[in-house]
Amino acid sequence: MRCEVCGAEIRGDPYYRIIEGGRMTVCGRCAKFGSTDWDPNRVLPRVRRPPAPRRPRNEVEAAESLEPVEDYGAKIRKARQRMKLTVEDFARMIREKESVVKNLEKEELTPDRKLATKIRNALNVDILEVGEQTAAPARARPTGARTFADLIKQATAKDEEEEET
Ligand SMILES: [Zn+2]
Repeated sequence: MRCEVCGAEIRGDPYYRIIEGGRMTVCGRCAKFGSTDWDPNRVLPRVRRPPAPRRPRNEVEAAESLEPVEDYGAKIRKARQRMKLTVEDFARMIREKESVVKNLEKEELTPDRKLATKIRNALNVDILEVGEQTAAPARARPTGARTFADLIKQATAKDEEEEET
């Protein structure tokens, strides 16, 4: 253990002194700089932080990565028509405004989880799916065709590498 004031190795028991308002562990020579002792065995009370609201991890991830499926508007409309429901009927069924249903079917409204759940319960169609980006990051990467210039650049870079070794 080293003295926090002079940096010398402390032989024997260190002195715990409050020096210039700070808690210092010091050697016998530097102990005179402090007037008060502090107790190293007393644990400082921790600063309390308000607990963060906890949600199961998988739920959070799922909520973030859900995206409407392709043609969800058409899917809703077809399912609704299959059940012989008018827009009005269906809107009443899921307790939404008719305009909500119309906009959903036109895909001018992106359903959130709550709405999607109601639609699934009413029509038995899933209109949200786990987003591709989070599910398969490798596929989300653009795989544009390489240009001739890129190939030349690559070839040159490779040559340089070989020269170095
Ligand atoms: Zn010292």
